[in-house]
Amino acid sequence: MLKWIIFALCIFGIYFFFFRKPKESQKKEHKKDSIMLECNTCGIYVSSEEAIIQDGKYYCSKECAKC
Ligand SMILES: [Zn+2]
Repeated sequence: MLKWIIFALCIFGIYFFFFRKPKESQKKEHKKDSIMLECNTCGIYVSSEEAIIQDGKYYCSKECAKC
């Protein structure tokens, strides 16, 4: 009986190993894809990570957000 339990655990381990990999790679791809947003004042495209959001509008810098 114990052999079968170890055998089952090994199969589960292999399954987890193979199912985890694609999920991790998908997460990495999502991180790489930063959405480009147009500045509401000057029209320059800024990545979503750097953009400043004010009143639901996107700006490239604090200076543009003041306008
Ligand atoms: Zn701007």
